Amino acid sequence: MTRRAAILPAALLCSFVFAGSVPGWAQKISATAPEKVIAIRAANLIDGVTDKVRHNVLIVIRGNRIESVSESGTPPAGATNIAFGAGATALPGLIDTHTHIFLQGEDPAEGGYDDQLLKHPSSYRAARATMSVRRALEEGFTTLRDLETEGAGYGDVGIKEAIDAGFIPGPRLFVVTRAISTTGGYPLEGYNPDIVVPKGAQLGDGPVEMRKIAREQLDHGADWLKVYMTHRSWTDKDGKLVSQPTLTVEELKAVVEEAHGWQKKVACHAYGGIGLHRALDGGCDSIEHGLDLDDAAITQMVEQGTWLVPTLAVYYDNNEPENTPGGKRDRARIAAHEVSFKKAMKSGIKIAFGTDAGGFSWNDPIAREFGYMVKFGMTPMNAIKSATSRAAELLDQKGELGVIAPGAYADVIVVNGDPLTKIDALENVSFVMKDGKVFKQQ
Ligand SMILES: [Zn+2]
Repeated sequence: MTRRAAILPAALLCSFVFAGSVPGWAQKISATAPEKVIAIRAANLIDGVTDKVRHNVLIVIRGNRIESVSESGTPPAGATNIAFGAGATALPGLIDTHTHIFLQGEDPAEGGYDDQLLKHPSSYRAARATMSVRRALEEGFTTLRDLETEGAGYGDVGIKEAIDAGFIPGPRLFVVTRAISTTGGYPLEGYNPDIVVPKGAQLGDGPVEMRKIAREQLDHGADWLKVYMTHRSWTDKDGKLVSQPTLTVEELKAVVEEAHGWQKKVACHAYGGIGLHRALDGGCDSIEHGLDLDDAAITQMVEQGTWLVPTLAVYYDNNEPENTPGGKRDRARIAAHEVSFKKAMKSGIKIAFGTDAGGFSWNDPIAREFGYMVKFGMTPMNAIKSATSRAAELLDQKGELGVIAPGAYADVIVVNGDPLTKIDALENVSFVMKDGKVFKQQ
């Protein structure tokens, strides 16, 4: 309900405030404080769409929307003024399109993945998720597409509601709830088969079960659906990366059809090979990771307009020792990933910023992903766009999020330095505004 109230145009609210007869629901809204006006003067602005840095820009915010952006304007009377000088750069709030707020890294020294599902009560996991979203906001990420709760059920829906209702600080969340895979297609695994252990995703087999799972998750508040199209991976005798496929095309199509019917989209975890091809044939909207994109997959992604969310940095964490089967796999993953990312960029595949945060500790900087994108040949401006206007496009929020322009939600951040000359300036966020409210100001 709060979201619905928030998207009412200001003009409509005013007409109800001043009209003689006010409907009950509008009275409730008009009883809130008058819309606050904030004027931000930024010496440097990367607006998320324009290719060049804009200088000496005035951004006027009314309520939770940006009212105007100009090089020549003066602040409206009564506005709260905030100014940022030559050493700082303003940008739209950043968007991470692949996170796990309910996961707290997979460091084996801390029990890895399994302990979180086996030993922690759901209240403990929700408390830590509350900290994860706060962390993301502090780092300038004002929107997350959170790609499954890893055994924490529909907890993401509750965290999203608590943020939207103003009980806890956090980014705007687009959530997928439990995620979907098949028997043999997701941990926990490796336990005595006679013991029933929890699974990190909702498992099913056959198109009928898949359709039911999709309907259930959509019914319980999923904004997107997430499907694991590959699971285990290893290297074959030639050292080539192989990934175990999970859903058949028929099973995936049942999920995609349901999601699309609800006008929602499907994110597919896929490394490469059979599972990746099934993901594309079944109509996935985004490929997550895409470590091993062959030429046919690249062509199909371009043709179908499929997004790639590469998540580069996470694959450099916690790798197993060299010359062990796991170590060989980890190195094959990194090697293939770099090649795939470069090919994807060259071929014009749509790329959105995503990190897999939660797969690594929420204490690590989320923005370190930008460094890998730039290292592998993406321009700093395109890397920024992948986390602003491009990510907004993936989320069907073009013009609303990921841009500093009139009409957009007032999500504004400021970093110390110039990220176009030094990309890791994006790890140094001094100011965060979400929805017109200042959350952080240093
Ligand atoms: Zn993930």
